[in-house]
Amino acid sequence: MKKIGILGSTGSIGTQTLEIVRSNGDLQVTALAAGSNVREMERQIREFSPLYAVMWAPESADELKKKVADTGTKVLQGMDGLLKIAVMEQMDVLVTAIVGMIGIRPTIAAIQAGKTIALANKETLVTAGHIIMPLAAEKKVSILPVDSEHSAIFQSMHGENKDRVRKILLTASGGPFRGKKREELLDITVEDALRHPNWSMGRKITVDSSTLVNKGLEVIEAKWLFGVEPEDIQVVVHPQSIIHSMVEYADGGIMAQLGMPDMKLPIQYALFYPDRRPMEGKRVDFYQLSSMTFEKPDTETFRGLSMAYDAVAKGGSMPTVYNAANEKAVALFLERKIRFLEIYDLIQGAMEQHKVIQNPSVEEILETEAAVYEYIDASRRV
Ligand code: NDP
Repeated sequence: MKKIGILGSTGSIGTQTLEIVRSNGDLQVTALAAGSNVREMERQIREFSPLYAVMWAPESADELKKKVADTGTKVLQGMDGLLKIAVMEQMDVLVTAIVGMIGIRPTIAAIQAGKTIALANKETLVTAGHIIMPLAAEKKVSILPVDSEHSAIFQSMHGENKDRVRKILLTASGGPFRGKKREELLDITVEDALRHPNWSMGRKITVDSSTLVNKGLEVIEAKWLFGVEPEDIQVVVHPQSIIHSMVEYADGGIMAQLGMPDMKLPIQYALFYPDRRPMEGKRVDFYQLSSMTFEKPDTETFRGLSMAYDAVAKGGSMPTVYNAANEKAVALFLERKIRFLEIYDLIQGAMEQHKVIQNPSVEEILETEAAVYEYIDASRRV
C-alpha cells in the first residue's frame, strides 16, 4: 500500500488525485491539506480517513476540528501543520498541488525527510529550483512531474541518454485569446480569461494560461526538472492539446507523448511511476482528429512568455519576482481591481526595479516575494 499526502486536496489537481485513489485499491491517503474550504475537506476526511488534515486559515481549522470531532483525523493549522505532514512517517509520496509559493517550505521539508515528490506546484521550482533539485539529488529523492507538459517530457526521456537531448519542444494550447492582438485584449473580463479551450483547471493557472505566464513558468520549471538551458526549450503552440510536449535528440529524432487533455493521466503516471496503470476515459481517435496544427507563439502580444525568458536569463531572485508579481497581479485581476493587460505591466515594473540576489536562500526568496507585494501595493497607491 503506497501512502500519499496531498497539499491542495480540495483544488483541481487535488480532487483529481483523489479520483485516482478511488480507482486504485493500493493507495492510502494519510494526509490532506487545503486553504479554507472546510466543507470539501470534511467530505474528504469522511471518505478517505487521513491521519491528519491541515487547514491554512485558523478559523477554518477551528471549524473543521468541531465538524470532524467524531472521526480519527487530527486537524492541524497553517505552515506548522504543512511542515508536520510533509515529514510524517506514514507517508511515501507527497503530491504538491497547492497553488503559489506557499509550497516551497513543505516541499523542501519533505525532500529532506526522503519523501517522493509528485510535483504540480510549479511556482516552487520556478523560485527555488536551485535549492530543490540539488537537495533532491543529495537525498536521492525523485521529483516526478505532474504538470502535463513536464510529464510528457519525462515520459519522452524514459530510457534515453539525457546527454543526447538537443531540445525540448514545450507545447502550448495558446489559451482562449490565441490570435488576438493587444487592442482586442483591452476589455477582457475575468469570465473571458477563465474560459480555457481545452483544460479545466484552478482559477489562477487558467488566467496564467491566457497570459502565457503559465508557459513562462513551465519553461523555468523544465529548466530545473530536466537540467536544460532555457534557449534549448522551444515553445510550440499546438491548439488541439493532443501532443503534450516533445523531446528532440541529437540524431534529429523526436519523441513525444500524446493523449487526450486529461490531468488524471500525468497524475496517475507520477503516482505509479514506472508502472503505467490502466485508466478509463476518452481515447485519441486519429480518424476523428483529422489535423494537428502548430504555430509560433505571439510573444509581443502575450508578453508573459518573453518576460519569463528574461527573468531566467537574469537568474537568481528574478524568477521569484516574475512569479510573485504575477501571483499578486492575477489576484488583483480576479478581484476586478486591475485590467487584463495590467498584469504584464505589474510584472514588468516589479522586474525593472529589482536588484538580483544571486543564489537566494529560502528566506531571501520569501523576502523578495514580500517586497514585490509591497512594491505593487505602493505603486497602486500613487
Ligand atoms: P486550485 O486553485 O484548483 O487549488 C489550489 C489548492 O490549494 C486548493 O486545495 C486550496 O485550498 C489549496 N490552498 C491554497 N492556498 C493554500 C494554503 N495557503 N495552504 C494550504 N492549501 C492552500 O489550483 P490547481 O489545482 O489548479 O493548481 C495547483 C497547482 O498545480 C498550481 O501550482 C498549478 O500551477 C499546478 N498545476 C495545475 C494544473 C491543473 O490542471 N489544474 C496543471 C498543472 C499544474 P482551498 O480550496 O481551501 O482554497
